[in-house]
Amino acid sequence: MTRETLSLIRHQAFIDGVWSDSHHKKTFSIYNPATGDDIVQVPDMDAADTRRAVDSAHKAFTGWKALTGKERSAHIYKWHQLIVEHAEELAALVSLEQGKPMSESRAEVQVGADYALWAAEEAKRIYGDYIPAHKSNARIIVTKEPAGVVGAITPWNFPSSMVTRKVPMALAAGCTVVLKPAEDTPLSALALAALAEESGLPAGVFNVVTASGDSAPEVGSVLTGDSRVRKISFTGSTEVGRQLLAQSAPDIKKMSLELGGNAPFIIFDSADIDAAVQGLIACKLRNAGQTCVCANRIFVQSSIYDTVIENFNHSMGQLKIGAATDIGTDIGPLVNIQGVEKVESFIQDALAHGAQVKAGGNRHALGGNFFELTILSDMNDDMQCFSHEIFGPVAAFYRFENEQEAVDKANKTDYGLAAYVYSQDQAQIWRVMDGLDYGMIAVNEPMLTTELAPFGGVKHSGIGREGSKYGINEFTEVKYRLLGNC
Ligand code: ADP
Repeated sequence: MTRETLSLIRHQAFIDGVWSDSHHKKTFSIYNPATGDDIVQVPDMDAADTRRAVDSAHKAFTGWKALTGKERSAHIYKWHQLIVEHAEELAALVSLEQGKPMSESRAEVQVGADYALWAAEEAKRIYGDYIPAHKSNARIIVTKEPAGVVGAITPWNFPSSMVTRKVPMALAAGCTVVLKPAEDTPLSALALAALAEESGLPAGVFNVVTASGDSAPEVGSVLTGDSRVRKISFTGSTEVGRQLLAQSAPDIKKMSLELGGNAPFIIFDSADIDAAVQGLIACKLRNAGQTCVCANRIFVQSSIYDTVIENFNHSMGQLKIGAATDIGTDIGPLVNIQGVEKVESFIQDALAHGAQVKAGGNRHALGGNFFELTILSDMNDDMQCFSHEIFGPVAAFYRFENEQEAVDKANKTDYGLAAYVYSQDQAQIWRVMDGLDYGMIAVNEPMLTTELAPFGGVKHSGIGREGSKYGINEFTEVKYRLLGNC
């Protein structure tokens, strides 16, 4: 690791512009998932520390919201510039704490920077409306106001870009933020806070509270329970999202929840098979299968089913598993041993219900959190892989006969985040896009994340959208002003 990367590693949380320990001085370890080595200890914060962070965000809110959009934009833009300048060090940190190869970490930091830039631009364009009034001597004006203090909670699979997807947009709207990053990967968030500090962001506008897995519920309870926090922005599991929604109900908070997915990847016999297979490699195996938009159920039309599996197996065989620091690594380890155990149990369940292993299926010879790239065929609806996110490098193939069956099976889930379709039949593409109950649909494309488009899901996949012109609405409230007798 370079000296520059080391210089971005922080071992304290960031509250009110000050690097802070937890009040009781407790810490927890952050591990390198490729080696199991202890990288650094960070504060294990509790309710009292979190309240201190909310105090700080609340105090800073008045001054921050009073700035013009142009002034807030300038602040966010400076932060963005520092992120771009330090992109290589930030990427190395992502690989260090999360395990993904450097090529993917670089892409994550880049896309995160794009979101920050978009937010800086949006800060200047939070327009309202002038509405023709119901009386001749009245005026109706609508403005968008900052929601207030935001409690943000982020996951480990994109430790950098999940922060830059939420925090800059909240700041653009005029909100201040208390962020709790995931316990496995808080270093990227702390490094981003260090750059925010360097950019001159006023104290208290962006606070980071670190906490172990055991302390996360306590931190969450303060964020959801404190009535000064007006908005919760969460990315993570449906289970925890549901809990945060319930906890926030008494205070009627504004919520955005980006939760689990169960993405169908449908390949019709009208598809360009080579493009579909290459798309599937990227969509399924990026981040070792640990993304909420990864292909989870691969539906292939009967006539091309065996060919697709064979070609996929061939392409998959070219990929190298290893640590992010090893040259030529394409796929890293899973983030922790719980992830490995979950993948193992899903494979056992599939086999017990009649699936066949066509490749892989076991822990990798490298040991630790590494898992073999795996292909399962003859999958059916009774298996856990059908109803739950696998979150690992396991490609599960289902066979279908006709278009309606593919759409019905794809929709046979509580989730509705991303769906992928490969077809060259234009009429079929439109019918299938209309039929899929998903927040995002990619046709003949395996990657759909961009700050230009609204990211988010329906049903148990969440509420709200991030990025695009829609994203700012998650952090603003509409204020209707009626002026009479004028
Ligand atoms: P995953 O299964 O991907 O780890 P989680 O939903 O468990 O997803 O975690 C996502 C984020 O939610 C992490 O930052 C984690 O610490 C946090 N978290 C987990 N449980 C709670 C909770 N009860 N209250 C607040 N945050 C929580």
